[in-house]
Amino acid sequence: MRAFSQSEILAAFTGATRSEVKRVTFPENFNEVDFDRLEFFGWRDRKIPRRSYVVVDAESGPVALLLTRAEAKPRGRAMCSWCNDVNLTNEAVLYTVRRAGAAGRRGATLGALVCDNFGCSKNARQLPPAFHKGTDLDAVRAERIADLRRRVTAFAAEVCSEA
Ligand SMILES: [Zn+2]
Repeated sequence: MRAFSQSEILAAFTGATRSEVKRVTFPENFNEVDFDRLEFFGWRDRKIPRRSYVVVDAESGPVALLLTRAEAKPRGRAMCSWCNDVNLTNEAVLYTVRRAGAAGRRGATLGALVCDNFGCSKNARQLPPAFHKGTDLDAVRAERIADLRRRVTAFAAEVCSEA
């Protein structure tokens, strides 16, 4: 994804109130984030419990989402719906996002099971645990990265859709 500045990200929030955006705390290592190796940028707000954010590089520009982590954990080990990591490297938890516009003001939300630490981009770059001889691993990896990007972008588009 393209690299975005903090002010670009703050200006890109959708479905969040102005006061919520004002309280956003960026991770301490923000300046070291390697956006080249990410399909989206997600982080936890270290000052607000259960609050996380995700930035997606959409065609029209960055889209930033405010996520609330569900209090209840999914039963058993859940698979992330974005990276579909079959190794279950990270714990997937349920996040909800308020929808944009009028629907969001009426309280409409969307949910997604996502890696708790937003390690999806890293997972997508890992090789599958088992593969046949002759498998084009670079192609497999490229496809996993493309899938992740497509799923995250689709989720952001759904949040933004007023339908
Ligand atoms: Zn994931």
